[in-house]
Amino acid sequence: MRAMGADGQIRAFVATSRELANEAARIHGTSAVAAAALGRALTAAAIMGLTLGNDENSMTLSIKGDGPLGGILAVGDGLGRVKGYVNNPGAEVAARPDGKLDVGAAVGAGQLTVAMDLGLKEAYVGAVELISGEIAEDLAHYYLASEQTPSIISLGVLVDTDLSVKQAGGFFLQLLPGHSPEIIDRLEAQIADFPPISQLLEQGKTPEQVLELLLAPFGYEITEKSPIGFYCNCNRKRVERVLISLGAEEIAQLSTEEDIEINCHFCNRDYKFSKGDLEAILRACV
Ligand SMILES: [Zn+2]
Repeated sequence: MRAMGADGQIRAFVATSRELANEAARIHGTSAVAAAALGRALTAAAIMGLTLGNDENSMTLSIKGDGPLGGILAVGDGLGRVKGYVNNPGAEVAARPDGKLDVGAAVGAGQLTVAMDLGLKEAYVGAVELISGEIAEDLAHYYLASEQTPSIISLGVLVDTDLSVKQAGGFFLQLLPGHSPEIIDRLEAQIADFPPISQLLEQGKTPEQVLELLLAPFGYEITEKSPIGFYCNCNRKRVERVLISLGAEEIAQLSTEEDIEINCHFCNRDYKFSKGDLEAILRACV
């Protein structure tokens, strides 16, 4: 859900993403902390993808840390579709002293990169050092450093004991150019004691109610509601094209083995190619 607040000074997004975060956790067989990290990154990618304003555009959020997760990749497009993975879905870390999942420790220190593919020759790429590895805070840092947009970002995933995702969601509050200096202080005061988004969702709050809690004192209007979901656009034809791009020599080397299996990292689907399949691709290649 997208809204404008404080007479156009604040741009707001609220997302509920339980289904897509749960789908990602199921596909990748994630540990609790990996489910939380991936769910947060995918929720952010869903919001960021929708801001691109064009169905053809897409963005890639890449978080490379030195923690046990090894890295997270999340891709979002202008239709609210996301896909993504973590390098080590089974990674485990000790819980924080407050009992919460320690996403920051699982991510570690490193870099956050955002690449926007706007259909131009080159993608727009911005990168910042990770502050905490908690993802929301790192993204807010990215928006300020890379896009000069002061942002308050919250991302939350509640993982159940059976490792399914119980609640997931997030919000972005961004100050637009021309905002008054005092709006920053008012906004900071407003969210100072704001509960975690996962807690609000667990209480049964809707995106409308979250938005009301966030922006009621500023005045706001909801401008758009869009569906978001997990979706991978891989198929056999695409995988064949990737094989062809490797060149005849590489394919010939592969086809000396028996059947080969190519795995899509995003949705974990396996594509099997027999020696005969590869020979047919090879013939199309030359
Ligand atoms: Zn796929």
